Amino acid sequence: MKIIMLGAPGAGKGTQAKMIADKYHVPHISTGDIFRANIKNGTELGMEAKKYMDQGLLVPDELTVKILLDRVAKDDCQNGYVLDGFPRTIPQAQVLDKALEEIDDKIDFAINVDVPDENIIKRMGGRRACLSCGATYHVEHIPPKKEGICDACGKELVLRDDDKPETVGNRLDVYHKQTQPLIDFYSAKGILKTVDGTADMKDVFAAIVSILG
Ligand SMILES: [Zn+2]
Repeated sequence: MKIIMLGAPGAGKGTQAKMIADKYHVPHISTGDIFRANIKNGTELGMEAKKYMDQGLLVPDELTVKILLDRVAKDDCQNGYVLDGFPRTIPQAQVLDKALEEIDDKIDFAINVDVPDENIIKRMGGRRACLSCGATYHVEHIPPKKEGICDACGKELVLRDDDKPETVGNRLDVYHKQTQPLIDFYSAKGILKTVDGTADMKDVFAAIVSILG
């Protein structure tokens, strides 16, 4: 079972990817993680990627796909995998498709965790963080015992710049421009499955399980 997760930043696709990985005993593969692992282990591909990253350049899609294919060739991927964070663009999806085709393989499902922008902005805007100890809260879902104060260390909680409506809005704009065309791409291939990501985390997962079987 080879799965691609699609969804806006903050839609909760990473959480769902982990839950899928647990239930179906397939690895959860995030490109960030495999880049870090390759660089840490000093692999040839990792060193090549590092050359770009050290110059502040984007790693070319071909190289990213090479690193990805190297990862999915490992034994633990025999029954499949969940890709989280790749592909992000149509060119990346095309490179991945072509590479998989060459090894007579393909993606089975592209799962789109659909959450309207305004919900994401609201969700993120409710996050609170303690910059002192790293604890995180949410005004609605995981409120601290005392408003605005960290349970763990008593310091003041803040809304991080990353979670501010303006920043989240900018990230959503980039997402809509680059990644949303993937929804049409996978829809045309007949493997797109959309779930309502505004539901409770458990209900979103139940909807995914009913798709995957
Ligand atoms: Zn704290």
